[in-house]
Amino acid sequence: MTTTSADVVRRVPLPLVARRLTVHRVEELSPTMRRVALGGPDLAGFEAHGPADHVKVFFPHDDGDGDGVTMPVLEDGRWVNRADPSLVYRDYTVRTFDPAAGELVIDMVVHAHGPAGRWAAQARPGLVLGTLGPRGSMLVPLDRDAYLLAADETGLPALLNWLDRLPTQTCVRALVEVGAPGEEIDLPGAARTDVTWLYRNGAAPGTTTLLQDAVRDALPTLPTSSLWAWAAGEAAAVRGIRAHLAGAGIGREAFAMTGYWRVGVANFDHHSPDA
Ligand SMILES: Cc1cc2nc3c(=O)[nH]c(=O)nc-3n(C[C@H](O)[C@H](O)[C@H](O)COP(=O)(O)OP(=O)(O)OC[C@H]3O[C@@H](n4cnc5c(N)ncnc54)[C@H](O)[C@@H]3O)c2cc1C
Repeated sequence: MTTTSADVVRRVPLPLVARRLTVHRVEELSPTMRRVALGGPDLAGFEAHGPADHVKVFFPHDDGDGDGVTMPVLEDGRWVNRADPSLVYRDYTVRTFDPAAGELVIDMVVHAHGPAGRWAAQARPGLVLGTLGPRGSMLVPLDRDAYLLAADETGLPALLNWLDRLPTQTCVRALVEVGAPGEEIDLPGAARTDVTWLYRNGAAPGTTTLLQDAVRDALPTLPTSSLWAWAAGEAAAVRGIRAHLAGAGIGREAFAMTGYWRVGVANFDHHSPDA
């Protein structure tokens, strides 16, 4: 039987909980990314441990900034109002959770094409959001000799989480796609991380092969015998990256990655076969 990353990554199930949270702080990370710190009594019991653990975030249904957020309804731990057309939800990575400060932090790409991207543009303290999850924590191996991490802006929060967790002696090659020079953000562990910023320079997000080409070019320079590869971003780019890994002879037990969004698709399902 073929070993896959599913045999290596340990999933710790967590009870599904819906939370109504208030924006405490908003910080500019770059011209296109904003950090949103959420808090409130509903955060009690929140847990997330893996670098790519994520929540569903629920936004106001009128595409506005009021508190008209339709919340997920749970019965016996099951989400039962999923078909309610007034629900507006998207997936976001848990960047950090600080129980002492009572803050859950998410980093959001600002863009004009969808309700979440528009909400991020005008986020400010006092606004209300809902969250659901995480359903489970994905505990990934942190003991490989080398890591290849590739992401566009949507995967950058998870990539930052990887850098926070990897031991300081680990060799890390990070490839990050952003719009233009000036959109880079500070990376933890910068001293031991070999980072390449890739710039779309005017091309629309999700329309270039920058990320997959950079992975292809980086692979021959990495020790493939003890490598873990992770990527997140536009679905076609992630598919291209998987193909390059397979082409380089890297087995499916050495990488786990998923498309986080897809050009032209609203609320892309990252569990779909296309992801
Ligand atoms: C597990 C997981 C974790 C994620 N973590 C994060 C995170 O931490 N931070 C983050 O910003 N995003 C993250 N994403 C991606 C985010 O969920 C999507 O980008 C989502 O589509 C944004 O919703 P929207 O309402 O802005 O756009 P949608 O209504 O979903 O889509 C409308 C249109 O906008 C386009 N679009 C979607 N996202 C982008 C984008 N980033 N740039 C340009 N066009 C876009 C779509 O292709 C579509 O044409 C994550 C996704 C997954 C699956």
